[in-house]
Amino acid sequence: MTAPRLEIDLEKIFHNAATLIGRLGDRGISVTGVTKATLGLADVANVLIQAGVTGLGDSRIENIEAMRRNGVTSKMTLIRSPMISQVRQVVAHADVSFNTEVDVIRKLSLAAQESQVTHGVVLMLELGDLREGIMPVDFMSVVRKTLRYPNIRLVGVGGNLACRSGVSPDDKNMSELSAMAESIEAEFDISLDLVSGGNSANLKWALGGGEPGRINNLRLGEAILLGCEPLHRQPIEGLHTDAITLIAEVIESKTKPSVPWGEIAETAFGAVSRDDFSSNPETNCQSQTILAIGHQDTDPAGLEMNDGVTLLGASSDHLVLETGRFVLRPGSEMRMSPNYSALLRSMTSPFVHQVCKPRRQPVFGPARL
Ligand SMILES: *Cc1c(COP(=O)(O)O)cnc(C)c1O
Repeated sequence: MTAPRLEIDLEKIFHNAATLIGRLGDRGISVTGVTKATLGLADVANVLIQAGVTGLGDSRIENIEAMRRNGVTSKMTLIRSPMISQVRQVVAHADVSFNTEVDVIRKLSLAAQESQVTHGVVLMLELGDLREGIMPVDFMSVVRKTLRYPNIRLVGVGGNLACRSGVSPDDKNMSELSAMAESIEAEFDISLDLVSGGNSANLKWALGGGEPGRINNLRLGEAILLGCEPLHRQPIEGLHTDAITLIAEVIESKTKPSVPWGEIAETAFGAVSRDDFSSNPETNCQSQTILAIGHQDTDPAGLEMNDGVTLLGASSDHLVLETGRFVLRPGSEMRMSPNYSALLRSMTSPFVHQVCKPRRQPVFGPARL
């Protein structure tokens, strides 16, 4: 089979999505399925829809366009503030976008008038993680301006945490977001459809038994695809953590000394030190295996391998492993489990193929568990 490749088990992704949708639904919280880690792969998008997401979100308009081209019909939200250079594409292909800049919203309004569509806007509130978001003191004035732009509809407010600074969602920052939604409704006499609390990092808070307040939506990617929560990278109970596997092919397998010889300078990817090489005092030799995959195809540090296999090093196109007692012949394959960073890079590499394992029985309509 073609290698390297990502094997994507759609049944497991369906299970993960439907399970989280069920648990959050009990708390009055809907799920937007985030497709950016799979570059808007239509097979995955369709499974999320079958599982019952209320819409799809992606940070790149190109991925949203790809889903549209491949026949994915669902409400689509651009979850990164649009580039002004892309506002035409945004209003043409996304129903809603997340926004923090009045200048961008004005351009979206002009583009929406030109195309005779209405574009939905979610305003993002800065809650302390210091990535995107309008500062609380400026929020009301941005709302006031947004409400005046033609062909723009204020759909709601949102927050995003744990992405830049690792700030965790908690009762305090989530109630700030709820309170902002309520102040806007009172001040402008409108009602907001969406109060989107955050990403997979919000699950611990959202399912922790606290009061959801006005939060009625989360945007989930990693938790659905990898079955893990991103704050401490712990598996989520009842979810599959092996829905996605990265497979690479062995191109060299030899017994080699464990310590290099010659003068040591920098490698292709930075400095090494003598301490990076441990030698087996008995033989000074080890089973060294090379896989045909490297930094250009994945994040080598983000791969979990079988017990007894150790990552020795990686360059652009080679992954060098110590395989202990296992001898892997050239042409054989090794399966690895990617974390979010490794998955993202593998999906983005044109050298890594994607093979979707179909669901056992396609279920159409609302998810059944
Ligand atoms: C990526 C992203 C998400 C989804 O994050 P996961 O950790 O994959 O759940 C949600 N919201 C925004 C704004 C994002 O950029």
